[in-house]
Amino acid sequence: MEGSEDGPLVILIGGLHGNEVTGVHAIMNVFRSIEEWNIPFKGKIVGLIGNTRAFEKGVRFQDYDLNRCWDSEYIRQLREKLHPEWDAAEDYELLELLGEIENLIDATHKPKILVDFHATSSENGNFIVIPEDESDNRIVRSLRLPIVIDLEKYLVGTLLEYVHKLGFTSFVFEGGLIGSTKALNLHTSGIWEILYASGVVERRHDHEFSKYDQIIESFIHQLPHKVSVLYHHKIYNGDGFQMKPGYHNFQTVSKGEIVARDNKGEIEARVDGLIFMPLYQPIGDDGFFIVEELEGRL
Ligand SMILES: [Zn+2]
Repeated sequence: MEGSEDGPLVILIGGLHGNEVTGVHAIMNVFRSIEEWNIPFKGKIVGLIGNTRAFEKGVRFQDYDLNRCWDSEYIRQLREKLHPEWDAAEDYELLELLGEIENLIDATHKPKILVDFHATSSENGNFIVIPEDESDNRIVRSLRLPIVIDLEKYLVGTLLEYVHKLGFTSFVFEGGLIGSTKALNLHTSGIWEILYASGVVERRHDHEFSKYDQIIESFIHQLPHKVSVLYHHKIYNGDGFQMKPGYHNFQTVSKGEIVARDNKGEIEARVDGLIFMPLYQPIGDDGFFIVEELEGRL
C-alpha cells in the first residue's frame, strides 16, 4: 500500500517458516483495517509471505530452512546457476523473496524497516531478535518485549542479518505459540505499534486498535527485558533429540538439570540461566538455548 506522502518503507514478512501463519493473518488484518477505515499513512507498507510454497502446504519448509540460507556466496551461486544442486523449493523462494525486497528499495522511501514475524513451538515465545548494535532502536523499544541481542551469532544465515547489511532496520518479532489466538492478537496489535512508532500512521488514529498495551500488560511482568545467549544445543540429523515436556521460554534452569534426551542419553543444562526456544516440533536444528538476563525490567 502506498501512502499519501513520502515516508518510510515498511516491509512485513509472515510465513518465512510456512507453518507459522499468524504473521500472515496479522498483516492481512492490518491491511484490511487501513482500507476499511480509510486510515491515512505516510510511506509504503508491503506485506509478503516468506516461504509461499511451504505456506501453501502448511509446513515449516520443504527442502531447507528459508531462515538459515541467507549467505551472499550461496545467493550468488544460485543467481548465476552455478550451484550444482540448484533446484530445491527454497532455492526458488530465496531468489523470489530477495528479488521482491531489492525491487522495493528506492531513494524516496526512508528509513527502510523490515519485520520478520515468527511463532514458536513452546509457550511464552514472545520476544524480539535484533542485531546488538540496534538494540536501542525506538520502534523495538516501543514493543516492550524481551530483546535477544546476539542470537545471530548462533543462527547463521538468517534473513534478519542479510537485510541488516542492505541497510534495513530489521528485527524478528516472535508472537508466541504457533496457531494461537494470543500470537495473532499480539502480532496484529504489534504491527499497529510499529506503524505508530515509525511515524507511518499517526497515533490519533489508534482508537480502534489500542489493544497492544492491554495485551502486553497481561504477561510482560513475567518476562526479562534484555537477554544474551549463554549456551546453544544444536541438533544433528538423526540424533533423536527430544525436549523434556513442560518447558517454556525464559523459565529458570539450573546447571545439571536434565532438560532433554537424545540417542546418546540424557542432556543436562550446562549453565544456570533461562531456557529459551525449547524445541517441541519434529523439525528444526536448534534443541534449546540458555540465556541470561542483562538488565532488569524498566
Ligand atoms: Zn520461525
